[in-house]
Amino acid sequence: MVSSVVVRAPSSTANLGPGFDVFGLALDAYYDEVYLEKSDHGIKIQSFDTIPLVPEKNSAGLVVKEMAKKFEIKSGVVLKIKKGVPVGFGMGSSAASAAAASVAFDALFNLNLDSNTLVKFAGIGERASAGSVHYDNVAASTLGGFVIVRTDPFDVIKIEPPKELVLCVAIPKIDIPMKKTQVSRSVLPKQVKLSDSVRNLSNAAAIVAGFMKKDVELIGSSIKDIIIEPARQHLIPGFNQVKENALHAGALGVTISGAGPSIIAFTSRSSNPKKICSAMEKGFMSAKTKCSTVICRPSKGAIKV
Ligand code: ADP
Repeated sequence: MVSSVVVRAPSSTANLGPGFDVFGLALDAYYDEVYLEKSDHGIKIQSFDTIPLVPEKNSAGLVVKEMAKKFEIKSGVVLKIKKGVPVGFGMGSSAASAAAASVAFDALFNLNLDSNTLVKFAGIGERASAGSVHYDNVAASTLGGFVIVRTDPFDVIKIEPPKELVLCVAIPKIDIPMKKTQVSRSVLPKQVKLSDSVRNLSNAAAIVAGFMKKDVELIGSSIKDIIIEPARQHLIPGFNQVKENALHAGALGVTISGAGPSIIAFTSRSSNPKKICSAMEKGFMSAKTKCSTVICRPSKGAIKV
């Protein structure tokens, strides 16, 4: 009988411009590792990283709590969380822990859950960090690749990304506000113009077509969002300059990664990703902000190690 399991889950980017709360893409930039072990009773979290250790406030802890309740698991669980994904920068940090916890719990207690159910439990973990349940990051982190989330009825569609797709992410060194996700949601418009919604929908549809056709140019040129990005960009120092510089250096499309503040550029293997990264760094410097950059590719989902 298995008494412990370790699962690694990748970072992710949500939205991809016009796919707010719907699209997610797993990224091989960073990974979280969650170790689960059966114990006598209760849920205990151990971590050397600066994350909440109370189960209800930790995205992985909350997943374990809800799964234990749902499947009437009598034994206790110890969680050890090793963070690789930077916390609070729009790289799906809480989601990576939640996805790893969901897949690890399933394996530890031999539940054999289907992928939609694993994502649903992982999504509950986002309540601990974002205050509400949302599935874009956890779906990508759990299943890997590019994902489309439908909520009514709940369903996740996964598409294998083109091998040519390369991403450049610039992570600014700025203080992250407490409750960042709530702040970045609070600036969003309550209503949108029908014509704006039509434009975003056309680009979202083209992104899906781009992933289906493995057409990196089509994906990149459709990363255009006229609803969420304009409302949030003031929260990121130098956003316009970073975007302009990246496009000028050959990026096909540029947008905010998830709720920010990281900025992500979509490009292909045949471009010059290093040049795009240094152009993004210069963009942030114009707003007196340092950043780190990472060149990455789509990742597979959460796996037992
Ligand atoms: P991002 O997706 O931009 O990384 P998150 O949605 O991950 O941002 O939210 C980060 C917040 O979630 C922080 O306030 C952090 O304390 C909280 N949090 C709770 N559990 C975790 C966890 N296991 N890993 C990372 N952050 C967590």
